[in-house]
This record gives sequence, C-alpha cells and structure tokens, in this order.
Amino acid sequence: MSNKTVPFTKEEMEKIIETYPTPFHIYDKKAIVDNIRRLKAAFSWAPEFKEYFAVKATPNPRLLEIFKEEGLGTDCSSLPELVLSEQVGIVGEDIMFSSNNTPMAEYDYAIKLGAILNLDDISHIEYIERKHKLPKTISFRYNPGPLRDGNELIGKPEEAKYGLTKDQIIEAYRICKEKGVEKFGLHTMVVSNELNPEYFAETAKMMFDLIVEVYEKTGVKISFVDLGGGIGIPYKPDQDPMDLEYVSGLIKKMYDDIIVPAGLAPLKIMLECGRMVTGPYGYLVTKAIHYKDTYRHYIGVDASMANLMRPGMYGAYHHITVLGKEDAPHDHVYDVVGSLCENCDKFAIQRELPKIDEGDILVIHDAGAHGHSMGFNYNAKLRSAELLLNEDHSVTMIRRAETMDDLFATLKF
Ligand SMILES: *Cc1c(COP(=O)(O)O)cnc(C)c1O
Repeated sequence: MSNKTVPFTKEEMEKIIETYPTPFHIYDKKAIVDNIRRLKAAFSWAPEFKEYFAVKATPNPRLLEIFKEEGLGTDCSSLPELVLSEQVGIVGEDIMFSSNNTPMAEYDYAIKLGAILNLDDISHIEYIERKHKLPKTISFRYNPGPLRDGNELIGKPEEAKYGLTKDQIIEAYRICKEKGVEKFGLHTMVVSNELNPEYFAETAKMMFDLIVEVYEKTGVKISFVDLGGGIGIPYKPDQDPMDLEYVSGLIKKMYDDIIVPAGLAPLKIMLECGRMVTGPYGYLVTKAIHYKDTYRHYIGVDASMANLMRPGMYGAYHHITVLGKEDAPHDHVYDVVGSLCENCDKFAIQRELPKIDEGDILVIHDAGAHGHSMGFNYNAKLRSAELLLNEDHSVTMIRRAETMDDLFATLKF
C-alpha cells in the first residue's frame, strides 16, 4: 500500500495560502531528491547509468536545476524544452532529443547543443543530411509492433506512430555506419504508467536481444540503450510503488545473460522517466468554494481541469486529502468539480470523503508530473502557480500564476 500522506500540516498550508492564493501546485523538494537517489542507487551496478528526466512531465527550470545537481540529464522533444535544458546548463550528450515528426528548426537547435539525436524514423537520416553532417552519435527509436503488447495508456505498439520497425532499424544502423557515425544508441518506449516490473524486464530482454542481432547483422556495437520512461506510480492507495531494486535486478540478470556473453559490455543503460521522478511529490492545492445538492452532492473547488487534466482526460484516479480531516470518517459521497463548462471537469466522481465545508483545503495527490504541464486555457481559465517546498519547509514560488494580461497578450486587438 502506498502512503497517501502530505508533507505539510494544515497550519503550514494555511500560512502558505496567505501568501500564495489557491489553486497552486506545490513540489516537495526533499522527497524528489531522495527518490532520485533511490533510483540511481538501484541501478548503481549498471555501467554509467543515467536518467534523462522527461522535461514534458514538469517543464520548470527550477526543478531542472535540482535534477542537474543530482546528475540527471534531460529528455527533450521540442524546441522550447531544448531551450529550458540549455538555460540550466544541461547540454551536449546530457540531452536526449527523443522527438517525433521533427521539424528542421528543432534538429538545428539540438545539433547546435550537441544533444543525442534519437531518430524516430529511417527517413530522418536523409532529412537531417539535407542541412547537416550527421552527428558522431545517433540513436534510433524501436517500435516492436506486433512483437509486444502495449498498455492501456499508450496503446498497442502496432498502432503507435513512434519508432522504426525491426527491419528498418537494422538498415538504419548499416546506413549510419557507412556514413561514418561512430557511436550508436537504441531506444524504445512501449508502456506508460506501468507498475508491473516484469514488463520492464521483458523490454530489457527485447532490447538486449536486438542489440546482439544488430551486432551480428551489421557489426555495429551499440554503446547505450535507453529503456524509455513509463515507470508508473501508485495513484490509488491500494497500489504499490514500483520496486526499483527488484526491477533493476531483473534487468541486471538479462544484461549478464545476454550482453556480457555476446562481448557487448559495457553497455550504458539509460532511462527517461518523468512521472516516477516528480509525480508523487507534487500536489495540487485547492479550496472548496461551493456545496451543491442536486441529483448528486457536489463540492466545487477553485481549481479546474485546466490545472490538472488527467481525471477529465483519462478518467484517472487522483487521491484527495481534506486537510485536517484525514482521520474523520469518510462517510460522504461527492463529485469534486471545477468550474469549466465541461462535465468531465471533475477531480473525483462518487468519492467517499469526510464531510467537506466551504473553505476546506483539498490536496489532490500525484500531480507532480503531467499535471501543471498539461494545463490549458480553454474556457479562458488561467493556469496556476507552482511552488517549491524546500527542505526547511520554506516555500519558493517557481512559477507565478497566469494573469488575464498573459491570456490576452497574443491578441491583436
Ligand atoms: C512522455 C515520454 C517519457 C516520459 O514518460 P513518463 O510516463 O513520464 O515516464 C519518456 N520518453 C518519451 C519519448 C516520452 O514521450
């Protein structure tokens, strides 16, 4: 069972709200750092293990700075993400550029920064060469197609737009070798928010086998393998977090069984997780502003799906704590809703919660990844601020809330 507690008291939060009005996202720095260290320790057996944080999960440079201090790289997939990474000094091969359908301007910038280009299609070799000499390092994204099942969130590999087929990827390495590329990587991302460790072990086996096959067929010795992101988090209280040591142990066994005897060690192992790095350590804090009693009981809060889209978009469960009422009986059933003119704007549906009164502070859990960053402005909603809860429990604002001026700034009127 995961522990759905919050890292602040009601009194602390009331103080924070005096300075920063709700709604806002708040990230627990200590918990994020401890978790990164746990991940690195779990993979300490792996030669030059590196986690490239998927910037899209939480694209805030103040967080990227922390990741840099902890030795992470960035996984970028757009020009602004490359710029954010550059701003905090994460450049060169500490950037994995895992884009798809990539415009030339983005390749231009990634090449300027010396990022690892992780190509999503064989045709991009020629596309890049229209303007650039191929970089010394190239990686390819593999799509196993019918050889693997995906999971619910990401879909079947066969139906996914990403990556090269097996035949194409072997051909792609052959072409790049001929063209003088010196260092090669292999990447895949076949699941998202997956909590089953066996799945990651299967992915590792699939990748290690492919690395051997590529070597046998082309003579290319792949230097690094990026097993993607997609490690899940326990959104529901009855779920367990991924046992990192266990999954790492499974991967090590595959490494020892496949890579070492093939003479292909050392092979650098990389991950590009976003969700498991920050997800559980970010909270959306909101206040109850209305109670409505019709065919159902509704609690209206001052946040909306513009601040956290996952429940509305995927029907995702996000745990809710009512501050100060953690131990009260959960004997009321509510829909907890935002104010968007969309009926899917609900943070919880028919959820058992303690009796909620106007002014109560609700903490929506696991909003630290794909939370604020998925926010949007539909219905002219303004996106909220982001705060960092420091180790001494002081608070730093790391992104201010949007204002109407921000919203109107692009209008020609
Ligand atoms: C989104 C994404 C990730 C991160 O996924 P998480 O579920 O946050 O771990 C990693 N790599 C690629 C290519 C992605 O698109």
